[in-house]
Amino acid sequence: MKTIAIYLFFTLLALAPTCSRESSQRSTDSETTKVAERVVPQEYSVILPHKSTKSATPGKGEACCSENVSYQPDPENLDYFGTRHIRVNFHFMYDSDGKNNVPKEIAVKRAKQILHSANHKLRNNCKMSLPQDNDIARLPIQIQLSLTPRPGVADDTGIYFHDDDDMYFYVKRGKNENRGRQDVIKKYGVQLDTVMNIFIMPHHPDSVKSNNYKADITGLAMRGLGAIKIAGWHINPNAASSEVAKNLNHEVGHMLGLNHSWTRSDGCDDTPPHPNCWHYTKNGSVCDSLISNNLMDYNAGKCALTPCQIGKMHMNLSTEGRKVRNYLDPRFCKFDGRNSVIITDSLHWAGAKDMRGDVTVADGGILNISCRVSMPQFGQITVMPGGKLILNNNKIHNACGYEWKGIKVYKQKKRRGEVVFNGDPVFENTAPINLEPVTFYPSKD
Ligand SMILES: [Zn+2]
Repeated sequence: MKTIAIYLFFTLLALAPTCSRESSQRSTDSETTKVAERVVPQEYSVILPHKSTKSATPGKGEACCSENVSYQPDPENLDYFGTRHIRVNFHFMYDSDGKNNVPKEIAVKRAKQILHSANHKLRNNCKMSLPQDNDIARLPIQIQLSLTPRPGVADDTGIYFHDDDDMYFYVKRGKNENRGRQDVIKKYGVQLDTVMNIFIMPHHPDSVKSNNYKADITGLAMRGLGAIKIAGWHINPNAASSEVAKNLNHEVGHMLGLNHSWTRSDGCDDTPPHPNCWHYTKNGSVCDSLISNNLMDYNAGKCALTPCQIGKMHMNLSTEGRKVRNYLDPRFCKFDGRNSVIITDSLHWAGAKDMRGDVTVADGGILNISCRVSMPQFGQITVMPGGKLILNNNKIHNACGYEWKGIKVYKQKKRRGEVVFNGDPVFENTAPINLEPVTFYPSKD
């Protein structure tokens, strides 16, 4: 009888749609849960690791781990979607006299002002202006930029100055165009593998004098090198930092995998084609009304990102092996109890996550995990009596290689926490997982 019950249980689990789009958000009756509840007798509530009958790679997770929608922050559940911090530094390039860019005496303050403004904008996503009367959600972006010096280097601020007649300038077009040159990055880059290097360069003085050259604020994201070149800050060093910050965020968007949104080939259905007008006009043209405010267009607003664009950046940041993931400040690898979460109802984690605190599945809570989860050092997953944790062929580890404390399951009289294995979950950076419930004694106070 026992054999039949276990066989039936795993057969039904293999058939259960654990990774549907609908269940990527909070849900109260996922099919998996129904199946598990229907066939698992109480004495088998803790299911120990078994060999999967499916051919999936152990720990790989499910198809939803590579779906954009799984990485779009849910405003109702931001506790489970912490803000990501991207490490950046700045390089100000000057001629050999230390001139021809933002004056050195104000450059540090200027960089910090613009960074502050860029982060303010990233915390305040705009409603999309196109298509007109759209109902595209204005989701939180959950990304910030973090000035990052070299660890252990005294007086390093993460803002550097270089005087170099040969490499200091930026020419965006014409016969002397040099914006794609890599030598300046290779010579002066600092921590290029882990920190996004932002080079602040002047337009060449000869270009600025030319009537045919627009010495505006412009830039180039060089994804392969881990660097951004930006020109034009020096033209008006007192320009509103919020205006300059738009350009910085646009280039960061490129670095995190976004393409221009008017191209119709940016991989997002929620960025509509449009005539790419810069400003509103009053001349009877299409620019009287059809103005985009998307960050990845060319326009004066540059403040909106769509759910798909946000999902794309976070999927890149969450996927192991992608270059951009190296830019993440790995503060999530260390425990921060303020970010511990308690699951009290039914929740499906359909995208990879980097948790910063403990995870507790409370009485009545069901946590269904389909993708990689990084637990912080010393962090623990706890399943309380009456709580249920379902692991769908995913990996749980610490992304920095620190040790985490594993999964603890509690029982109280006849009630137990349940852990269900679907496929072959993998645990790394922790002692062998013991899922045998231990008695829970509630505190008296
Ligand atoms: Zn661009």
